[in-house]
Amino acid sequence: MTTQTHGFQTEVTKLLDLLANSLYSNKEVFLRELISNASDAIDKLHFLSLTDPELIKDDPVFKIRIRPDKETQTLTISDNGLGLTLDEANTHLGTIAKSGTQEFFKNLSGDAARDSQLIGQFGVGFYSAFIVADKVTVISRSAKASPEEGVRWSSEGNGTFESGFMPRNQRGTDVILHLKDSETKYLDEWVLREAITKYSDHISVPVELYVEKTIEPAEDATDEEKKNPKKEWVFEQINDAKALWTRNPKEVTEDEYKEFYKHLSNDYQDPLIWAHNKVEGEIEYTSLLYVPSHAPWDLFAADNKHGLKLFVQRVFIMDEAEQFLPRYLRFVKGLVDTNALPLNVSRELLQESAVTSKLKKALTKRVLNMLEKLSADKDKYQEFIKNFGQVLKEGPVEDYANRESVLSLLRFASTRNQGPETNVSLDDYIASMKEKQDKIYYLTASNYEAAISSPYLEALKKKGIEVLLLTERVDEWLMNQVFEYKEKRFVSVTSPDLELGDLEDEKEKEAQKEAQEGHKDLTERFKTALGSLVKEVRVSTRLVDSPACVVADNGRMFTPELKKIFEATGQKLPEETWILEINPNHELVKKAQSFDDATFPRWAQLIFNQALLADAGTLKDPQAYVKLVNDLLLGK
Ligand code: ADP
Repeated sequence: MTTQTHGFQTEVTKLLDLLANSLYSNKEVFLRELISNASDAIDKLHFLSLTDPELIKDDPVFKIRIRPDKETQTLTISDNGLGLTLDEANTHLGTIAKSGTQEFFKNLSGDAARDSQLIGQFGVGFYSAFIVADKVTVISRSAKASPEEGVRWSSEGNGTFESGFMPRNQRGTDVILHLKDSETKYLDEWVLREAITKYSDHISVPVELYVEKTIEPAEDATDEEKKNPKKEWVFEQINDAKALWTRNPKEVTEDEYKEFYKHLSNDYQDPLIWAHNKVEGEIEYTSLLYVPSHAPWDLFAADNKHGLKLFVQRVFIMDEAEQFLPRYLRFVKGLVDTNALPLNVSRELLQESAVTSKLKKALTKRVLNMLEKLSADKDKYQEFIKNFGQVLKEGPVEDYANRESVLSLLRFASTRNQGPETNVSLDDYIASMKEKQDKIYYLTASNYEAAISSPYLEALKKKGIEVLLLTERVDEWLMNQVFEYKEKRFVSVTSPDLELGDLEDEKEKEAQKEAQEGHKDLTERFKTALGSLVKEVRVSTRLVDSPACVVADNGRMFTPELKKIFEATGQKLPEETWILEINPNHELVKKAQSFDDATFPRWAQLIFNQALLADAGTLKDPQAYVKLVNDLLLGK
């Protein structure tokens, strides 16, 4: 046997360092990971054997076996699954392929306590073996390879591993853990029994533990034999090997659902909620869908891997089948098992199948219902919104059929709250609308502080009308695509016509008209001073505490937020045509008014620039503005 020494991918080395130093409160998770890998390897081979039965002919009964050996201080986890070729062992057991690994490492701070917290949230898979072992040996043979092409891989977890060919008669993998002196309790039958039960009850293949059993003495045994009965070592099945989703939901415990989630998702934390349904109708299927409690690192990456596990008649077919849920529900983990698809279904076939689109429709509804249910628990729902609210906002546009249901699941910050918490639903908004109010008012801004102090809110605040404050990037885009909810139109508080409609009573309308007439001189003076910078100057109906604001003529093509995004990418956008709205009751406007025609234009400039600043948070020429302010302050 020739062996070669290889260096681990840098990330693996870092991970192993972390594992060695992390204070794992729950070390036994290594068993979950290794049993989970073994079960995956069996699932994969089971699938291949559907079209190539030769692969498993010599050893047709799938199983996972766990064997403690006190003499050698080793614990061996064996499976007769797909196994590994030498190349596969070198890549799969030397690198981390999981998406988001880079992000994970970027998030590490070097602070051991914080980092070991983080690692608890990151599925470390195979490498978790090094939590309890100071040396790991893997002996494997791919089901497709000959006995000469067996593989031996081993590592002490310190930067390098060795690997090479080693003849092996049977297919599958043995993972041999040379336990640290401090972890020998994982050789104890009762410790193992408990952990294995916990981590394998939901697994569909038998998991067997090697135990010493007493042989019942025969009737005619001697007294001596009865007193000291013989013992023998046997494999005893520990789990009931029934796939969890095939069981009656009433008989599955919360803990079992949670453990199954961890097996399924590579997530170390409990899910927020799940839905397990067995459906017998036009299409027979079972689905088990989970909402995680935290967002994965790559939720917004273009190549984010997502989708459900697909089973056909309980046989695992593929991972990450994206065809069963729309993209905006890509955070959902889980599986679907159906009899309505053929066992040899491929991704391409899946794409075209009418069964797929029916299942997609049904599963989408299930997820939306599950979220609706979750929303009854305010705290949990806030968690959900914090993690996945932005993704959900893609829904009303992507999924026209469910637009209203998705909109009803969104939550926003609002002027009704004292702070930036995003917990107001559109139904809450409608329920507390003013008499005669028939529109939903909103404001988009780059952050909560900018939104809440925006002059555009003033008149609405005074009238006690609630305004939704939208401060996420996706909001701009969303509000450009949806126009109404339950027949109530969305109106931006920065639009030229606020359309307060019946919210303004006759008296106000009258007063408004009078104000326009009464301040005609003033507005004309501003218009003359600002010239082509503004299209029109008028008395504002929306201002109370601010001197002025700008509104875009004919509505906005681009909100300030979107404009910034475009400009950051170097694109030039057409200039806005502005209408300046002034508040004639404001001290600053009154003061400006008092100056003669030589000085007034600079005050007009000041007020106009302030309005632009409040609108977009930036000015094209900040230096000129600062000089203007300084000059006026110095009375120049
Ligand atoms: P993950 O299981 O999340 O992909 P792991 O680190 O647990 O990550 O495992 C890495 C890879 O090593 C697996 O994807 C699989 O290809 C391979 N592997 C691990 N354990 C086994 C096993 N018992 N049999 C076959 N392949 C395995």
